[in-house]
Amino acid sequence: MDQAALTVLAVTVLRQTFCRSTNFEVVPVVTNESITVIGAGIAGLVAALFLSVGGYRVTVIDRHEKPTLGKDLDFYNGGTTMGGCDARQASVTEAVAAPTRIRSLRLMPMNKGWKMLDKMSADEQMWAKKFETMSAFPEMYSIFSDLVTSMNRVAINLWEDLFEQIPELAENAVRSRRIVRLCTSESAVSNTLKFQTKVHRKNDKVVRLTKEQMATRFPHLNHSHLAGGVEVEGFTINVKQLGDNLMNYLEKKRQVTFKWACEVASLQDTVVTLESGEKIISERVLLATGVSGDGLLKDSPIAKQVQGVIGFWVKLPNINRITEGFKIHEEDPVAVMNVTMSVDNKTLIISGGFGFVGKQRIMKTSRYTEMAVLVALAVRKYFPTEFEKATELNKKIPVTYCVRPMSADGMPLIDWITTANLGQTMYVGGTSGGGFVQASILSLFVLDMLSGRNDYAHITQAMASTRDSLSDHLYYNVARDDDAQETSENSMTSLDPVIQQFAEDFLIL
Ligand SMILES: Cc1cc2nc3c(=O)[nH]c(=O)nc-3n(C[C@H](O)[C@H](O)[C@H](O)COP(=O)(O)OP(=O)(O)OC[C@H]3O[C@@H](n4cnc5c(N)ncnc54)[C@H](O)[C@@H]3O)c2cc1C
Repeated sequence: MDQAALTVLAVTVLRQTFCRSTNFEVVPVVTNESITVIGAGIAGLVAALFLSVGGYRVTVIDRHEKPTLGKDLDFYNGGTTMGGCDARQASVTEAVAAPTRIRSLRLMPMNKGWKMLDKMSADEQMWAKKFETMSAFPEMYSIFSDLVTSMNRVAINLWEDLFEQIPELAENAVRSRRIVRLCTSESAVSNTLKFQTKVHRKNDKVVRLTKEQMATRFPHLNHSHLAGGVEVEGFTINVKQLGDNLMNYLEKKRQVTFKWACEVASLQDTVVTLESGEKIISERVLLATGVSGDGLLKDSPIAKQVQGVIGFWVKLPNINRITEGFKIHEEDPVAVMNVTMSVDNKTLIISGGFGFVGKQRIMKTSRYTEMAVLVALAVRKYFPTEFEKATELNKKIPVTYCVRPMSADGMPLIDWITTANLGQTMYVGGTSGGGFVQASILSLFVLDMLSGRNDYAHITQAMASTRDSLSDHLYYNVARDDDAQETSENSMTSLDPVIQQFAEDFLIL
């Protein structure tokens, strides 16, 4: 059966299985097995929680130091969760790619594209082709996004139930309990409303907000560019605070062992060898290494499927004491900007931007500057007073970045690593903007698969790495005559003087 058919089946199963609310009711398996989780980002931490409640003896290993609140790690040292900003949002359409993005990887940021690289590796090119082909077939896109939105809806439920059952996890971390999507035109409001109504459940409240209602609800925002909004299910969260809560809970209440500052050098079946030479042997291994685990995944098709997409954020003083997080729908490459408050409510954390960087280390090229400036300009448009205040205080504003894992079809990755002993080693990861939200449901799937239950096997099969070898069924080779021309158009490297000037005047990159 090809993957499209599997995906349709999975959506049906998902809807039947989860037609009622999902609770965090992990049935412990009768096991005293040990498991090593590599990666203490959000995927690894939540999986460790589910696994420990499920009866496993869990050890979590990460190459970075134990994260400390208030001390920022960068992406290369901290991964996406701990090296990113302390702000995430959970909504049903988090991580959903748009079918309009067919040319995104070929166009420079100034032309509304995601192109950051001059040259792509063979794996990156393959990924790019799949990404484009997915966008070129709206029916296919619709099947996949159906699965992602259904999963995200269940994932949000699971998170909420988890926070109710273990309130200390949510302490100081969960903020707004609903999400408002602010739109810049009437047609954007109508389209957003239509799409959000389609992907939510019947009992969910999806509410249209007029321009006037928005002005009352968000009085301190510059509304001249806004036409209205749509309020949907979801919440905003300070993810580092959540990570801290999770680590404390796991260590103290669930006897999970953490090994910090330990780089895993190799994995042979279930023998994990650290850089120091120390070996850790357990019955199972779970890789939750995000976009940075290639060394361990190198013989597995999964490595090719996870590529990196850069995102940016800016911090501004919250001088108007905004207390509710929200989203602003901008055009690509800035796309949807998330506005979230810091834990102490003194700072606005505004994230946005998409740029394809594959597996390459980011060099601060002119495209990087372009993208950062576009994000900063969008931020200034809605928060002129805060922007001015920030430059008054600091002269220049730091624009920071992080790289997030993304699959070409927008679905999460969860599969056995076939190069290791089958049934013993698995990879798990959410994708793109939805990695946080999906961590809850993916952990449920991990537990299910490891313990040999089949409750969700159908769903995970649809997300399995077989999609790589099924490329002939799924992805057609879209030959494009304009390839050469677009490449030469895009290879110019000089910066628009206005962008250059703005970067020099206002930003620290
Ligand atoms: C700016 C930005 C905004 C975002 N906003 C949202 C949002 O609003 N909502 C949402 O749902 N998602 C959002 N995301 C996406 C989400 O943050 C990521 O998908 C998620 O954090 C990825 O988590 P992870 O655990 O899979 O990977 P990571 O957090 O990268 O964790 C992987 C870990 O593995 C460790 N590791 C790797 N290799 C080794 C090794 N060999 N040895 C030891 N350790 C190793 C790394 O150090 C790292 O800590 C956003 C991402 C960005 C960048």
